[in-house]
Amino acid sequence: MKARFVRVAVPRPVDDTFYYRIPDHLEDCIQPGAVVLAPFGKRTITCVVVDLADSSPVKARSLLALTGAPSLDPGLLELARWTAGYYHSPLGLILRMFLPPQERNRGAKFRLTTVGKEVRERHEEGPFDRLLELLSRGPRTSTYLDDRTDTGKIDEAIEIGLIETVLPSATGPPGGVPALRRIRVEQKVLELTPHQSKALKGILESIDEAGFSVTLLHGITGSGKTEVYLRAARKLLDSGRGVLLLVPEIALTPLLTARLDTMAPGKVAVFHSGVPDGERRNAWEALASGRARLAVGVRSGVFAPVPDLGLIIVDEEHDSSYRQEEAPSYNARDVAVKRGQLEGIPVILGSATPSLESYRNAETGRYRLAVLPDRATASENPGIELVNMADPKLDRSAHPFLSAKLLSELQDTVKRGEQSIIFLNRRGFAPFLLCPECNFTLACPNCSVTLTYHRSRGMLCHYCGHVQAPLSICPSCGGKRVAPVGTGTQRIEEVLQSILPDAVVERLDRDKMEKRGTLEDIFRRMDSGEIQVLVGTQILAKGHDFPGVTLVGILNAEQALDFPDFRAAERTFQLITQVSGRSGRGGTRGRVIVQSYSPKHYAVVAALDQDYSVFYRTEIAIRKEFGYPPFKRMGRIILDGISEKKVAAAIGELVSSIPQADGIRILGPSPAPLPKIQNRHRWHFLLLADSHRHLSAALKKTGAFRFPGIRIHVRVDPYNMM
Ligand SMILES: [Zn+2]
Ligand SMILES: [Zn+2]
Repeated sequence: MKARFVRVAVPRPVDDTFYYRIPDHLEDCIQPGAVVLAPFGKRTITCVVVDLADSSPVKARSLLALTGAPSLDPGLLELARWTAGYYHSPLGLILRMFLPPQERNRGAKFRLTTVGKEVRERHEEGPFDRLLELLSRGPRTSTYLDDRTDTGKIDEAIEIGLIETVLPSATGPPGGVPALRRIRVEQKVLELTPHQSKALKGILESIDEAGFSVTLLHGITGSGKTEVYLRAARKLLDSGRGVLLLVPEIALTPLLTARLDTMAPGKVAVFHSGVPDGERRNAWEALASGRARLAVGVRSGVFAPVPDLGLIIVDEEHDSSYRQEEAPSYNARDVAVKRGQLEGIPVILGSATPSLESYRNAETGRYRLAVLPDRATASENPGIELVNMADPKLDRSAHPFLSAKLLSELQDTVKRGEQSIIFLNRRGFAPFLLCPECNFTLACPNCSVTLTYHRSRGMLCHYCGHVQAPLSICPSCGGKRVAPVGTGTQRIEEVLQSILPDAVVERLDRDKMEKRGTLEDIFRRMDSGEIQVLVGTQILAKGHDFPGVTLVGILNAEQALDFPDFRAAERTFQLITQVSGRSGRGGTRGRVIVQSYSPKHYAVVAALDQDYSVFYRTEIAIRKEFGYPPFKRMGRIILDGISEKKVAAAIGELVSSIPQADGIRILGPSPAPLPKIQNRHRWHFLLLADSHRHLSAALKKTGAFRFPGIRIHVRVDPYNMM
C-alpha cells in the first residue's frame, strides 16, 4: 500500500512531529529526508519529512510542495535524529541546520495560476481575495506573504487550483563552486619533520583500514598540524572521496583556505556566517551534487552534505566555539565523531591543548594518539617569563596594569621593527564605574551584572545590550569622584599609544569586528608589518599565524579562574598556551611575558612550563576526585522567568521529580551564577550520572513539565556554566 501521509519535524522549539497528507501532485516524489513546504498555523514553513505513514491519527492538512533543496540522505537523517536525541534538542531545529541557508530564510515562491488570474480579474469577493491581490503583481515568497496576510489557507488555494508554487533557482553562476578570495600563498614544498611523517603515516593507515576510528593529533603550537591535515585530505580527494574540515573561526584562517584551494582548485566549498546567503547556497549545492569535494566550515558545517565522505578533521578540537549553548544546543566536535561512526570513516581531532575529554579517550585507548612535540620550522619554542602582579615590591611606576618588564620589552620590540601582541580577555575601556566614597557601582537595570564602560558608546551591558550615558555624580551619595575602575582592551590600547606615540597600535575584539572587513584589514596590516602592537581578546588565541610577532604579553592571565566553572583551570591553561604560541613563529625566537596575580596556580605554572602532561595529570585527578566530566556525564537545567518566586518553586518541583537512583547526583537547585538576564530570573541545577544513558533518562523526566511563563533550558555536556 502506498504511503498517503508523512510525519514532518517543524523548525520550532517543540518535541512533536506533525502529520500531513501527500497531495496527488506530490505522489511518488516524497521520501524521508525530503525538504517540503507545509502550512503551519497561520504560516507556511519549510520542514523535513522524517517518516512515511499509511494513516494519520488526526485530520491532516496537505503538503504544499517540494522546495527544490536536495533531500537529506538516510545517513544525515540518522545523524539529525541522534543529535536531537542526545542533546534533548528539538528535531525540527536540528534539521534546520542541515538545510541550505536560503531554504531556511526564504523558501519557495508562489504565483497565480491561469484560473487564479481569472478569479482575481473578476474581483468577486471570496476567502482568498487578499492572497490573490498580493500575488497579482508576480510571484512572492512565503515570508513575504506571511508578513502581510494569513497564509494558513494557502494549501486550500493550491488544491482548488488558484495558485501554484515556483521552485527557487540558484542565484549564483550555475554549476560553479564559489570563488575564494585570492590571497598570496607561497608555494614552497614543505619537508615533513620525522614526527609529522609518523603522525601522517598513522592517519593514512587509519584511512586505508576503511572504518571508524578517531585519532587525536596532539601537536604543540607551530608544530605543523595543518600540513598533516592537508596531506591526509589530499589522499582522500585524489581517490575521489569527500573531506569535511571544521575550524573554530574561518575569518582567521584565510591562509588555510587559500592553501586548500591551491591543493584542490575548484573543489573547496567554504561555509561561515561572513559568506552571503547566495554563495553559501551555491557552496551547499556544489557539495551535495559532488562538484565540490572538500567542505570547510565552522560549527554548523558539521551538518554539511558531503556525498561519499571519507574523512572528518576537527582543528583546535578544544575550542569552545564548537559548542552551541542556545537552542538547538549541540557540540560540533562530538557530532563530528558521531558522524564518523555512522559513516564508518576516520576522524582526526587536532589541538595543542586537547580537551580533557579527548585526551582521556586517547589514554583509555578509545582514540588513537599522534604526537607532534616540536615546532616544524627551525624556530625554537618561545621563552616564557612570569611577572607576579601580586608582589608588593613590583615596579608599577609606569602603569598600574602594565609591569615595567613588559613595557621595556615592548619598547625594545618596537625599536627592532618587530611586532607584539598584547592579550587581555576583556573588551571595553573598564569593567565598571565606581564611586570611591560609597562603593556604588552602576549595574544593568535588566541583568545582574555591572555595566562596562566603553569610550565611544558609554555604559554597555554585555548580556542584553542596554546602553546609557556614563555618570559623573554618584546617584547614591552625590559624590563627585565616580571613575572607571579596572581595565579593558580599549584602555590598554589608549595607554600603549601614549607610551609608544610613534608606534602603530591597533585593537582587535568583538567591538571592532562589528564592522565588516575589519578582521581582513587588520590581518593584512599585520602581514605587511604596518601594525606594530596589536591589543586583543581571545579572538587572538584561535590558531592564527602572524610570522612577524616576537613578543606576546598576557595581562591578567588567570581571569577565567574567577568563574564558578569546573573547566576554569582547563580554559586558563589553554588560553595561556594558545596565546603564547603566537610568538616567534617566523624564525626569530619569540618571547612571552605572562602577568599573573595567582602565579602559583597549577594551570598557570604548567602553561609557563609548556607542559601539557603535567597539567593533564593534575587536572584529571581533580576531576576524578570531584566526580566531574570526563568521569561523569553532566547535564544542566536552567529555568528562567519574570517572577523569581515562581521560578524557584518550579525548579523545586522539577528536581523532586528526578529519582536519585542509577548513580544520579543533583547539585542544586540554586540561583544561576548570573541570576538575572533581560529581567528574567534564572535558577539552575546540575545533574551528574555514570553514563549518558542514565543522564538522558533523568533529563527526559523534566521534558514533561510545563510552567506558565517559565522557560526550561536543557543542556547536555554543558560548556557555559553561567
Ligand atoms: Zn557614592
Ligand atoms: Zn543587561
